[in-house]
Amino acid sequence: MFGILKKVFGTAQSRKVSRYRNIVHQINRFELEYQTLSDDQLKQKTAQFKARLASGEDLKSLLPEAYAVVKNACRRLVGTEINVSGYRQKWDMIPYDVQLMGAISLFEGSIAEMQTGEGKTLTASLPLYLYALEGKGTHLITTNDYLAERDCEWISPVFHWLGLKTGALTNATPLEERREIYTRDVIYGTASEFGFDYLRDNSMATSAEDQVQSSHHFAIVDEVDSILIDEARTPLIISGPSNQSNQMYDELKSPVSALVKKQSVFTNEIAQKAEKILTSLNLLDKSLEAKKLNKVDEEKKQNALKDLWVVSKGMPRHDFIKTVREHPDLRADLEKIDTLYYDKQRQEERAELLSILYITVDERASEYELTDKGIHTWSELTGVEKTNDFTMLDLGHEYALIDAIDSLDEAAKLEKKTAIQKADALNKERHHNIKQMLRAHLLMEKDVDYIIQEGKVVIIDENTGRPQPGRRFSDGLHQAIEAKEELDIQEETQTYATITLQNYFRMYETLAGMSGTAMPEAREFQEIYKLEVVAVPTYKPCGRVDSEDEVYMTKREKYHAILSEVQDLHKKGRPILIGTETVEVSETLSRIFKQNGLKHNVLNARHHDQEAEIIASAGQKGAITIATNMAGRGTDIKISKDVCDLGGLHVLGSTRHQSRRIDRQLRGRCGRLGDPGTSKFFVSFEDDLMRLFASPKMTSILQRFRPPEGEPISASMLTKSIETAQKRVEQRNFTIRKHTLEYDDVMNRQRKEFYSFRQEILSAQNMLTYIYTLLQDYCGQLLDESTNTSGKWDSTAFATMLCELFPISFSESELKEHLSEEAFEKKALQKLVHTFKNKIEQQKRKLEEHRNALHELAAAGLIGDNLDKKSTNQILSNVLRDIFITIIDRLWQEHLLHIDHLRSEVHMRSVGQKDPLMEFKHESFALFQDFIQKMRSRIAQKMFIFELHVPSPEELKAQIIRMHEGAPELALDSNEIDITP
Ligand code: ADP
Ligand code: MG
Repeated sequence: MFGILKKVFGTAQSRKVSRYRNIVHQINRFELEYQTLSDDQLKQKTAQFKARLASGEDLKSLLPEAYAVVKNACRRLVGTEINVSGYRQKWDMIPYDVQLMGAISLFEGSIAEMQTGEGKTLTASLPLYLYALEGKGTHLITTNDYLAERDCEWISPVFHWLGLKTGALTNATPLEERREIYTRDVIYGTASEFGFDYLRDNSMATSAEDQVQSSHHFAIVDEVDSILIDEARTPLIISGPSNQSNQMYDELKSPVSALVKKQSVFTNEIAQKAEKILTSLNLLDKSLEAKKLNKVDEEKKQNALKDLWVVSKGMPRHDFIKTVREHPDLRADLEKIDTLYYDKQRQEERAELLSILYITVDERASEYELTDKGIHTWSELTGVEKTNDFTMLDLGHEYALIDAIDSLDEAAKLEKKTAIQKADALNKERHHNIKQMLRAHLLMEKDVDYIIQEGKVVIIDENTGRPQPGRRFSDGLHQAIEAKEELDIQEETQTYATITLQNYFRMYETLAGMSGTAMPEAREFQEIYKLEVVAVPTYKPCGRVDSEDEVYMTKREKYHAILSEVQDLHKKGRPILIGTETVEVSETLSRIFKQNGLKHNVLNARHHDQEAEIIASAGQKGAITIATNMAGRGTDIKISKDVCDLGGLHVLGSTRHQSRRIDRQLRGRCGRLGDPGTSKFFVSFEDDLMRLFASPKMTSILQRFRPPEGEPISASMLTKSIETAQKRVEQRNFTIRKHTLEYDDVMNRQRKEFYSFRQEILSAQNMLTYIYTLLQDYCGQLLDESTNTSGKWDSTAFATMLCELFPISFSESELKEHLSEEAFEKKALQKLVHTFKNKIEQQKRKLEEHRNALHELAAAGLIGDNLDKKSTNQILSNVLRDIFITIIDRLWQEHLLHIDHLRSEVHMRSVGQKDPLMEFKHESFALFQDFIQKMRSRIAQKMFIFELHVPSPEELKAQIIRMHEGAPELALDSNEIDITP
């Protein structure tokens, strides 16, 4: 069946490619024609194209000519000096036909799969030029700042020659410059820069002039898999300090450590006992052949292993467990036990066995749970009744109970409810913090998941292995780790704005991408981004030879094998590039090489610019380079003629990555543009991939082919098994990303609504109309609230509510009039609007007096006469806008926090057979309604109590007289307007 699918797929692709070939012919015909034009004539094409677009022609019909213009401009530039990243070079690129094909697929909004070294940077320039003709900015997304600047400098000569403006955005670009940069035609920058600008514009900018990003017209994402897939699991977050204290962490720190300590002492004991038994049965000695045990001994062994299984569920990273896993037989037995207890029918037995632990850990799912024993110990350690920390209240139920108490009046009931709600919120937060602290202790490993630098916890990116200073684990996990490591707990941060990269990129009218390794993720690109992957043929056939993997039992043996392979090839003078998954492994290998006198470079993706230089020279004779996955990506490795003769660059993978695509990327580093090259991966059974995801079948193969120490296991079956393990992880990661997106999709709708409302406020000419509508809505809201549960309407209750909230009142007679709901509401609204108008008039008078005083002073020559020309209406409108924005931003942040909590809370409900996502959708919608209601009520109330603080004419005069000479400019600015409650 798959054969057929592949065939269908294959023909669709080849049909596409032949269609592209036709267009390429057209482009080349035009280009030939253009060769006879003068420079000026060619340059004029840009303006002519724009005019044709303006008169209704579409981009597609312009493509052949526009691409031909770019190609011809490239030809004319050949030999010109250009300056890229501080190096003088000569322009030497004219797009090849395959590049033109890639460029057509980019124009169509596809992902072009073009191998490393095929010249994607140049390819992108063609569609960027074409889309830029529409007069809106086009964006090219790079993987890091260094590449943003490099690619911009590299390709700009063509754009400039054709009259387009370009710019690069980096982390160092100041805010003031960004607005102007966004007005240019082609902008290079990382996904974070674009994404954060979007978030900042919509959550921080307080006026339309402060917003920088103009549009989401067309974007090409370079190395699209690494940006849309590898980085897509962590959303972009703008956060800042929140007002919460860290007191809770301090309070929880010692009981959590104590509980974990108990668990570790306890599991140690079990492990030691088991070790003794296994030693006495001679099972730990690797030099001995596996022998058949008698019945009694066999039972002893099984019991010891069962105990060890319990240890593995309590302390998955226990040293002795690692040792036992080095023995294929024992490993297989341990896995058997694990599989046994995954059976649904054995859940009770499983729980019974694990009940001796305090906490159980599921390493694969990154989850943990407290046993009854654990909960009991917890309450002993903290003195908190156990029901408090680990059971959640059902608020609705509690409220109903209160409502049923007849002896309480409404006010007393409300008071009671509020108290319960507060206590519940506190309880939830505490529960959440305990959970995160346990996670920090049990699943977060120092030097693997994070490192400590200058007293700070620094995250290590799991894909690239590079430290991420400044980034923090979210949701309190970071503080939890700080507490665990006895560091100063940094202030809790609060989310101001957040978006996933997926949702950011889905805003573009047209999105395209390029990568050397996109095909493996074709399904995800299609499903999530609706992007099709097109495999573009290579300029020359690939000359690389890939060897089978070498698999070892232990890491130690693996490193030995790597060393001897490197020594061998180095003797022959071949350059070698060694890819690693983590900084840690890079450092280990570096140490080994040093001890053996091998000169080498180590790249950890810390300094992109220097590393680009080093990686560029990794193809020189005799060079040895150790690099983590991301280090130097985007810079191609050129090799010389004599290296070519030696067989080219050798790429050595020090482990299989969780994703096959990353392995392919590494391989793609050699054999570019038809160069010769070789590649090989080294794997050990202690690698994380194998430890966590290898199938039991693989272990049984091992038992049969147990190799002597130091020798690789060569079973071709293994290669398949490794792939299966990889596939399993890929599938899991895909599910996680999809999950993140499903949740963010819910938020996305709310975010869009909120952002567009906010945008409307920012650009509104007259705030008063907004406020009248808001008062009207709020009045309606109060009316609903004043209708009691029996559906009966009570005018007195409504009036009381209004009088408590607003400075208005109702006379006895008004209340006795027995007006209908609508009539009464109308009356109330009239009162509100009337009062509000008075309020505004009063503020305006204040402003006018202030202004007259200023004019008098100016006329008397006491101050300069360049006074603020804005009308008082305008000033007042701006003040109202400020109030509006301040309030809605604060409430939105609060809303995001609630959503965060909801998200982690709904997962606890999956136990009760409820679908967490459905629950989340439901409740986040309710929270959003709450948010809107709160927004209305806060703003409505604020409108009656804000006060402009401007100096009175007398104060002003007194101030001026106090000044000696050279009076400073006095104009009303927002600093003088105090809008705090
Ligand atoms: P990729 O991003 O696809 O890995 P790059 O854009 O970094 O590749 O380009 C790889 C190399 O190929 C660069 O050194 C570039 O100068 C060269 N190159 C690309 N296109 C052409 C061309 N049309 N003619 C000559 N050299 C080219
Ligand atoms: Mg590139």
